[in-house]
Amino acid sequence: MNQQPTWGWPTDRLPRVLVVDDQAINIRVAFEALRGDHEVFMATSGEQGLQVFRDARPDLVLLDVVMPGMDGHEVCSQIKAGPDGADVPVIFITGHDSDQAQVQGLGHGAVDFIAKPFHPEVLRARVRNHLLLKFQTDYLRSAALYDGLTGLANRRHFEEVFAGRWRAAERNAQPCAVLMIDVDHFKQYNDCYGHQAGDECLRQVAGAIGKALMRPMDLAARYGGEEFVCLLPETSLPNAGPVAERLLCNVRELAVPHAASGAAPVVTVSVGIATSLGGSGRAPQDLLADADAQLYRAKAAGRNRACAASA
Ligand SMILES: [Mg+2]
Repeated sequence: MNQQPTWGWPTDRLPRVLVVDDQAINIRVAFEALRGDHEVFMATSGEQGLQVFRDARPDLVLLDVVMPGMDGHEVCSQIKAGPDGADVPVIFITGHDSDQAQVQGLGHGAVDFIAKPFHPEVLRARVRNHLLLKFQTDYLRSAALYDGLTGLANRRHFEEVFAGRWRAAERNAQPCAVLMIDVDHFKQYNDCYGHQAGDECLRQVAGAIGKALMRPMDLAARYGGEEFVCLLPETSLPNAGPVAERLLCNVRELAVPHAASGAAPVVTVSVGIATSLGGSGRAPQDLLADADAQLYRAKAAGRNRACAASA
């Protein structure tokens, strides 16, 4: 290879490539071309290809067009329609590379074509280029949406999701809950243990917060510094309280020593809970301000606890 791998390229594993072709000889040629620096998965029918796609979660798919039963176009459409397939490049390998066939394939979501019979080096180079693009795109998307330190959603992503969930709550007149969370005496923690330990503490607290959320629609985010926020759609106050208690408990159970905390001998958090009914004329910022006010109350009352507006 003339190029070194670049950012986004996985460093802890080989790229995974799925080859789907009804002719064993074609799979063999592709396998020989890619083995060594790829983990290659194989399937000899469209149906089997979809199954292996779900199980192996490949980074790229090489797909024969003409197969008995489910053909390549159908396989590609199903991959693209699935939750894990939108970002996985599919390259058609085909003996029919007329303009019309290519337009049809691109319409089904393929990124490229390779004509049969192919040269192994051409296959390797194209696969590499598309993997490079895929990994860079994944990396940029992740950097745009997630906090680099904790892996939780970042503030911008949270605000976008919140805006969408709030509109849904307004349409359906449903409740929505927000938890504002602050690590107790975190400045003292940094002063006492150093900033590297502080970063590790934030990572652990973030993990404990994430574990307290049970539903896929719930979202935990780093709001800034040592502040976190959770969005609980379709949740009223009686249901938000137990989540906050679980979260408080998870953080205490980390048992991270905090000798400089006035609240406890271990790292703890304070939580402010706010809920509102969609359609009540309030905005997401109002809910955040309410949760912040409750967080302030929780701190004033001694920290290591949750407070909620008594609506
Ligand atoms: Mg075929």
